[in-house]
Amino acid sequence: MYEGVVQDLIDELGRLPGVGPKSAQRIAFHVLAADPTDIRRLVDALTQVKARVRFCVTCGNVAEDEQCRICRDPRRDPTVLCVVEEPKDVVAIEKTREFRGRYHVLGGAISPMDGIGPDDLRTRELMVRLADGAVTEVIIATDPNLEGEATATYLARLLGPMGLRVTRLASGLPVGGDLEYADEITLGRAFEGRRLLDV
Ligand SMILES: [Zn+2]
Repeated sequence: MYEGVVQDLIDELGRLPGVGPKSAQRIAFHVLAADPTDIRRLVDALTQVKARVRFCVTCGNVAEDEQCRICRDPRRDPTVLCVVEEPKDVVAIEKTREFRGRYHVLGGAISPMDGIGPDDLRTRELMVRLADGAVTEVIIATDPNLEGEATATYLARLLGPMGLRVTRLASGLPVGGDLEYADEITLGRAFEGRRLLDV
């Protein structure tokens, strides 16, 4: 529709999650009209994040070092592990200040429709972490939707025989939703009222 580089920019923006063709066009023209200094800051932030941020070798959260800040923090309770789908879920739960344990980020959820099975998630790493018996409770905090529930069920079956306390966040979270969109109070309450999963 547009010429060369402008269309390239619109195409690239349109590939971002949540950006439709209209938004892509709007952002592209914003960039065209914007102050070059502002755009350089944006480019810098994008470059830096790709150069410096990686995934924590222990939990899979985003980290600037080999381990993330939470895994390195000796004040975190080493007996409780909260399993989430994405790093953004860690941020959402941290905001509630309800949880003082550590996390394990799966990197997604089981979704046969998208061809994602348990082996595509960091489940093997989870089993390795649990092997030494230091963790006594695993809280499954996957999203309250179809994929999240399927993942929770799979994990409960996997962890059940290990003699751990396996809990799931209480209802009250919007069903079909995304953990990150739950407000802090609802998510905090879901933590307090977590229930034991029958395995
Ligand atoms: Zn970590």
